[in-house]
Amino acid sequence: MLLIVMDVVCPRCAAPIEAENVNLESGLAKCGECNAVFDFRQQLAGTPTPERPEVEMPKPFSWQETFDGLTLVYDWRSASAYGLLFFCLLWNGFMAMWYGIAIHEQEWTMAAFGIIHLAVGLGLIYGTLAKFRNRTTITFSPDKVTVQTRPMRLFTKDQAYEPREIQQIFCEEKITRTKNGVNRSYLVNAQLCGGETKKLLKLEKPEQALYIEQEMERTLNIRDVRVAGEMTH
Ligand SMILES: [Zn+2]
Repeated sequence: MLLIVMDVVCPRCAAPIEAENVNLESGLAKCGECNAVFDFRQQLAGTPTPERPEVEMPKPFSWQETFDGLTLVYDWRSASAYGLLFFCLLWNGFMAMWYGIAIHEQEWTMAAFGIIHLAVGLGLIYGTLAKFRNRTTITFSPDKVTVQTRPMRLFTKDQAYEPREIQQIFCEEKITRTKNGVNRSYLVNAQLCGGETKKLLKLEKPEQALYIEQEMERTLNIRDVRVAGEMTH
């Protein structure tokens, strides 16, 4: 296995992948250069055109046939929604108490002091509601691919692309450092023909991002371009 691991290269930037960034159990590898996340097992098979292992549909996804075409639906509600709900209730319970006292005692300095925390609390309410209600849809029609989030769309933007302008779909791990440690999220990006990269979707788990990549490439009929393969053949 070790010999094989040394041969894994990033499908995006062709950098060799360090052994520590390869997870043999999950089949996932991460590029230390550009943060691309991918299933490396396709590179292990000795044949020139290895079969790419199928990513099964994770739970929060479903397919729908709509008026506009075929739609892949991503439901935002997951286990983390309940954690957020708990935190939101705790935070805003405290804020209610703080402002109850401030108003009752007419302590305006106290009220002014809490204003930023109050704003965070309102943001938390919005975020929690979005977690429970939002759905992101990717709709494939013959002349357009659209990505939309409904019903709460404060931090998301509707996107539309022509199928032929999408050259490649790839996944990327994004690491954000917070007070409580490291938070990992997974982006699904589209590389457009002009060389521009567009962020399509942000997800919690790598297999969710890889599933979208797989389904988009299949539906749009994009060959999963392997930069390394292109260079050596
Ligand atoms: Zn890379």
